[in-house]
Amino acid sequence: MYKIEGNSITRVNHTCPKCGEGTFLAEHDNRYTCGRCGYTEFKRKDKN
Ligand SMILES: [Zn+2]
Repeated sequence: MYKIEGNSITRVNHTCPKCGEGTFLAEHDNRYTCGRCGYTEFKRKDKN
């Protein structure tokens, strides 16, 4: 999935900062997790 922002392309899917660009984080209710290294990134809740 890609999203156009101005004249640059931003990835919508989150990637693991430890494993690199090729590894995507699995989406859960309130977080993203990496199946390879276990990295967890919590979703922001700006809107309720
Ligand atoms: Zn990882």
